[in-house]
Amino acid sequence: MLIDIHCHANLYLTLQEIIKDAKNCGVLKIIAVGMSYTSLERIVEISEHHDAIYPALGIHPEEVVMNKQIESQLGSISSLIRKNKDKICAIGEIGLDHHFVKDKSLYPLQMKIFEQMLSLAQELQLPVNIHTKGAEKTAFEILPSYQIPNVNIHWYSGPGDLIKIGIDRGYYFSITPAITYSPAVKKVVLNVDNHHLLLESDGPVKYYGIVGTPAMIKSVLNSVSMIKEIDIRELENQIEENTRTIFPKIFF
Ligand SMILES: [Zn+2]
Repeated sequence: MLIDIHCHANLYLTLQEIIKDAKNCGVLKIIAVGMSYTSLERIVEISEHHDAIYPALGIHPEEVVMNKQIESQLGSISSLIRKNKDKICAIGEIGLDHHFVKDKSLYPLQMKIFEQMLSLAQELQLPVNIHTKGAEKTAFEILPSYQIPNVNIHWYSGPGDLIKIGIDRGYYFSITPAITYSPAVKKVVLNVDNHHLLLESDGPVKYYGIVGTPAMIKSVLNSVSMIKEIDIRELENQIEENTRTIFPKIFF
């Protein structure tokens, strides 16, 4: 079984079709990650209408740019996440971004939101799905301050020395369709052992102008199996096992 562990499923206009295509490619489970305050309830709602969708809730680091009210909404956001604690499999997508968010005056607020999300993950004992773009070092520095069951580093493209630190800490790294062109993603595949790899589409992010979908996970698996020179079935089983370990609630 293939599982897309990071997809912005609420952003598709034709979700039913997207799920059907995914199932035809053997992608049977999809984790829908939160981004904005308004996305959270929508994600829980779509998970109730589609059995392949499993919700994860959190606030994306770019929300400091997108939503000027975000700071005043933090209390309601935490209550909403706590209210849905039994339905969700993870806290995500959360993290820091110093690449797309250029305005440094927003970094303290971004950190405040990230720390609030990490505290929630610790309180609810849920794994986290982490965005680290351009802020890898800072994100890696703060993570050990929290007792969180498991950490997934999503679409890592930062410095190589931190991959080693992540591996030593037992983090799981998820690989996107960018594997076909990104040297940074290939470096993650080459350095992370088979027991700590996961697959994700990050859809509907575009890859070479094509909208990313969970169905693409099948070709990501193929690329990883070629790079790591491991039998594709064996790799699929191992990645399913890894997914079971980090996100046990999607298998209940
Ligand atoms: Zn994402």
